[in-house]
Amino acid sequence: MYRDTWAEIDLTQIRENIIEIRKFLPRSTKLMAVVKANAYGHGDIETAKEAVEAGADYLACAFIEEAIRIRNAGLQQPILILTPIRPELVPLALEHDLMLTVTQASWFHEMRKYKPIHTPHKLSVHVKMDTGLGRIGIRTQEEWLEMVPWLRAPDVVVDGFYTHFATAGEADNRYLQLQIQRFLEMKEWSSISRIPINHYHCAGSVAALRFPELCMDMARIGAAIYGFYPEKLVPNIQLKPAFSMHSRLLQMKKLKEGEYVGYNNAYQTDSDQWIGTVPIGYADGWSQRMQNSEVLVEGVRAKIIGKISMDQLMVKLPMYFPEGSKVTFVGYSGDQEIQIQELANHIGGVSQEITSSITDRVLRIYKEGGGVHHEITGSRTKTY
Ligand SMILES: *Cc1c(COP(=O)(O)O)cnc(C)c1O
Repeated sequence: MYRDTWAEIDLTQIRENIIEIRKFLPRSTKLMAVVKANAYGHGDIETAKEAVEAGADYLACAFIEEAIRIRNAGLQQPILILTPIRPELVPLALEHDLMLTVTQASWFHEMRKYKPIHTPHKLSVHVKMDTGLGRIGIRTQEEWLEMVPWLRAPDVVVDGFYTHFATAGEADNRYLQLQIQRFLEMKEWSSISRIPINHYHCAGSVAALRFPELCMDMARIGAAIYGFYPEKLVPNIQLKPAFSMHSRLLQMKKLKEGEYVGYNNAYQTDSDQWIGTVPIGYADGWSQRMQNSEVLVEGVRAKIIGKISMDQLMVKLPMYFPEGSKVTFVGYSGDQEIQIQELANHIGGVSQEITSSITDRVLRIYKEGGGVHHEITGSRTKTY
């Protein structure tokens, strides 16, 4: 590692979270570990391996590139791609034994140009229903009936039938109830059509933890694996984050009252002040919205001041710190902690938005059982 900015991923914590979630779900419910977006920034392959070892039955990705990376890493579990792929990519998906999300009869029509019906490979699909998220999926029985003949093809297996909730994280669950009601009706359509379907599923992390009885055959768990969940709404489980991120002070300077800091003169000192520069910026995923949020410098809180630039940002320090002092953006430093939730509140977003935005430029260091295991950034891997 040459650069003084890194993220630490506690794989043991990810494992413990999955084991806790597993205990929480009904026994007959399979656990699909969602590792899209580089496992919410935690490292896709490392997380997928850990998830499988901890008992995940399925894996899920957003896009075909992500799924191929995981398959090529040697994982044998079923992998569902949550976003529909272009029909011409079906042979590529089959080559890597990937399951597809389907939402339209016209997709199958087009797909048949690339996969003739009598080819030996079976295509495993999960049909996505839109019960009110308004994103992707079938909304009407008409659309479903158009899809049915394609689903009956001898080389098609309907491994799943699913939907996704819009308001699982909100205390008021009336809209969630409406979506469930609609999903149960749609489930009826599938029974009437006598299409054999292996798994019905509807819950992501928050719905699964709040209403385990809703999970049906499978729960698609992303955020909770990484320790992100609304603690107030789910008091009966304890999950912890696995992600922390740190850097080191690059330069210290004492500015006089009235001096400017950062682009556009966005900050002006109101007294003589210690200002520290840290080598991390928005190109690392530390967005300009983080301006005025806090970091820990050797356990002491300090505010990010001025505009965050591409590779560097400045913090206002209450006292002198030597260059090289540890700066913690997320996680513990001394007896202080910066929680991701605090930062999410600062930007008006969610925890997973922050971790999944951390770019490849930031080295991920993996810890298992407390010790450092090995580190990966982008395509570079180093094992100790
Ligand atoms: C991302 C995603 C999930 C995982 O959601 P979490 O809230 O992170 O558990 C589940 N289902 C679908 C369709 C998704 O896109």
